Amino acid sequence: MDTAQAVEAIKRRLSLKEVVSRYVALKPAGRGRWKGLCPFHQEKTPSFYVDEEKGLFHCFGCKAGGDLFAFVERIEGLDFPAALERLAEEAGVELPQKPGTPQNRKELLEVLRLAQAYFQEALAASEEAKGYLQSRGLSEESVARFGLGYAPAKADGLLTHLVRHGVSPEEGLKAGVLAEKEGRFFDRFRHRITFPIKDHLGRIVAFTGRALGEETPKYLNSPETPLFRKREVLFAYPEAKARLREGRAIVVEGLFDAIALHQMGFGETVAVLGSGLSEEQARLLKSQEVREVYLAFDADEAGQKAALQSLDLEMARQFLFYAVRLPVKDPGELLLLEDGPARFQKPWKRRSRRWSSASRRPPRA
Ligand SMILES: [Zn+2]
Repeated sequence: MDTAQAVEAIKRRLSLKEVVSRYVALKPAGRGRWKGLCPFHQEKTPSFYVDEEKGLFHCFGCKAGGDLFAFVERIEGLDFPAALERLAEEAGVELPQKPGTPQNRKELLEVLRLAQAYFQEALAASEEAKGYLQSRGLSEESVARFGLGYAPAKADGLLTHLVRHGVSPEEGLKAGVLAEKEGRFFDRFRHRITFPIKDHLGRIVAFTGRALGEETPKYLNSPETPLFRKREVLFAYPEAKARLREGRAIVVEGLFDAIALHQMGFGETVAVLGSGLSEEQARLLKSQEVREVYLAFDADEAGQKAALQSLDLEMARQFLFYAVRLPVKDPGELLLLEDGPARFQKPWKRRSRRWSSASRRPPRA
């Protein structure tokens, strides 16, 4: 299959309307046509049309238009090869492999799967790690559901595991699970609880490691890789998807916080990996038809600042934003209180304030 054939195959398999609707709320506009607010210019009445049969989009306002590839390139800021790679993977279309190109995404995904198996096995064998998770109030069910693991305090545990499975140290480095110094490879995550970070399709694309001892930083993320861009993923998003469709999202800062809230029955919780909610993350929420976003960031100054950043987004105008003032320092702590769920839920409406995107100040609780 050459590139032109691959492009045709991808267009046959993916629906333009479905891809566009991840970014734009589309309404029917007669026979196989859909319309919505143009994502490429500011407007209040829809002049952006998608023709599903022809596989084309067109905006009568700013004249943007083209096919599936043109849309993805423009909205994601990708060049054609990058858009091709991404769409081919989503459509399950094999691309002609250029000799000498770096590992493709599929191979990197496999490296991460191997790493995940290693971390989970190590957790099962570590009383220290299991004890720590218990002390944070996480149930075994939550630990299994979110795939938590443990990276032992060794420099070459994962390295050895990968090499045994035919993965070169260079591949491990590229996948973000190994590090390298002066030509020597070693495990990036050591003596840490590992959280797999998944993309919107539920595939592991990175890890965050939480220090078990005094190691710094307390939370260590995989570096950005061809698979992983921090601003494009939300922790717990695959697990929250079904609940998000009910229209509400709770956004927290911490990974433990997200799991804690899921465990308490708030299955619509996701966590950002860093500060604030990015444009890309907001789009993920939008694609599940989320209308209300409750920011339950830490009560400290940094948390409030991160929450404020979220409102600088263009996307913010599409949601109703609420700031949730927490009764404790961070949501994870609620898990350790017997009446935690009640304490989170009860003051919910009272403590949540509509947060106008025009005002830069958080509302007072
Ligand atoms: Zn337009």
